[in-house]
Amino acid sequence: MSFDLIRDPEILAGYLTDASNVRGHAEALVRPHTAAQIVRIVRHCQETATPLTVTAARTSTTAAPVPQGGWLLSMEALDRIEAIEHDHAIAQGGVRLGALQDAIEARGRLYPPDPTSRRDCTLGASIATNASGARSFRYGPTRPWVTALQVVLPTGELLEVDRDTPVPDGWPLPSWPEPRVKTAAGYAPARTLLDLFIGQEGTLGIITRATVRLTELPASVFALLGFFPSRDAAVAFVQHARASARADPYGPLSPRCLEYLDHHCLALAAGRVGGIPEGARAALFCEQEIYGDEDDHLEAWLGALSDADALIDDTLLANDPPTQARLHALRHAIPAGINERVVHNGMPKVGTDLAVPDDALIEMMEAYEAAPLPHVLFGHVGDNHLHLNLLPRNLDELQQARAYYDELARRAIALGGTVSAEHGIGKLKRHQLAWMVGPQTLAGFHRLKVRLDPAEILGRGNILAPSAGL
Ligand SMILES: Cc1cc2nc3c(=O)[nH]c(=O)nc-3n(C[C@H](O)[C@H](O)[C@H](O)COP(=O)(O)OP(=O)(O)OC[C@H]3O[C@@H](n4cnc5c(N)ncnc54)[C@H](O)[C@@H]3O)c2cc1C
Repeated sequence: MSFDLIRDPEILAGYLTDASNVRGHAEALVRPHTAAQIVRIVRHCQETATPLTVTAARTSTTAAPVPQGGWLLSMEALDRIEAIEHDHAIAQGGVRLGALQDAIEARGRLYPPDPTSRRDCTLGASIATNASGARSFRYGPTRPWVTALQVVLPTGELLEVDRDTPVPDGWPLPSWPEPRVKTAAGYAPARTLLDLFIGQEGTLGIITRATVRLTELPASVFALLGFFPSRDAAVAFVQHARASARADPYGPLSPRCLEYLDHHCLALAAGRVGGIPEGARAALFCEQEIYGDEDDHLEAWLGALSDADALIDDTLLANDPPTQARLHALRHAIPAGINERVVHNGMPKVGTDLAVPDDALIEMMEAYEAAPLPHVLFGHVGDNHLHLNLLPRNLDELQQARAYYDELARRAIALGGTVSAEHGIGKLKRHQLAWMVGPQTLAGFHRLKVRLDPAEILGRGNILAPSAGL
């Protein structure tokens, strides 16, 4: 073998889990430096039917990089930025997304996908999971920003693929009615060969290099936190702002993100940093890129907030350093408060990742709010994609939380939504994906997987259960 296998249990231990806290096991770890080495590793694994799990920064919340035997392949040494031009950038799969974005922004350009984890997670994994973030409301998920990939197939071929690359003969590309919402669940109905490798969760190929499209870096952006007397007032504002952004993406009211905070979030923030107005039952964190005159934007925003009955005098407009610091402290108090509760409870939180069509938003929010145990609700309301965080206090409640999550997933499916808008399926949500796509589509996914990966070595257990006997 022409690659070093690490079998030291102490080193391996650092690679066996992810943000889901599921712990796996593996016989060995490889840390290749080149695509050619990855080719040799993958060929060996396919010939010997050795499961091979790609691991990057392990920020996944779905146990996707957690191995269940076999070998682990770490992308950490493939971390080079190769080129940043006016309209595109090229980087290796293991480069940190935030570092790449900093380098791009230093050249006055923007690569928009912004998962909250972008400082930690890698470019290759963000493509493999079709990651999204707050500003996906304006820019969409990762998929449309990828223009070419270098991929090692599960049989060891090195493929260079762009949007014009033809589909190889006999590849049964998936074709199914994907929900018309932001989604990262299952193999996307592939419009091009390139699409197949975006959102495949490390099961169809290892992304060694990516070319991504860049856009204009906005000259400036303002952020604001608007407080509302009720959830419905906040949603009315969202509907208005969404319609306005769709009608004129460069108009005075054209947010790049619309993020919801429910009254439980506000209570958490009030307890930690104060400054939550009396009477606030919901809040929206929003960002607006400035085109033309800033005053025109401000006038449009304040007018629309006022029309939606926002607590207008309490609106925090982050246009000076003290207000920016206050807004920052308020936003960060919420994850900190949740983590504190989780530690205090000694139980993991159960976080949803569902999205529904526009007209189902209120119904879905009502279902979240009816959760039978402590919770907070926040997230990407512009995309009807909220994260309900259930905070169980004991094992019974943990079970109850998981059962309620399944109930919510069924509700989202019935409303035409998705069981994963951004985090993917991994090993934890396969049952929900099966409910969403049905047995025929699942069989189609399986045919594709086996055609590309006869021994089902790559990312075994992600998206699909392994075939019987494996
Ligand atoms: C606090 C926090 C916030 C988060 N916020 C967001 C968010 O806003 N939006 C969002 O979409 N996600 C979010 N996530 C989830 C996670 O960060 C993303 O899924 C991210 O893309 C994973 O990147 P990673 O480098 O950590 O990959 P890992 O977790 O190591 O791997 C994730 C998956 O990608 C596969 N993979 C990794 N590298 C490659 C490669 N080069 N080629 C092929 N497959 C590969 C792995 O096998 C695995 O299936 C968040 C997670 C945390 C913990």
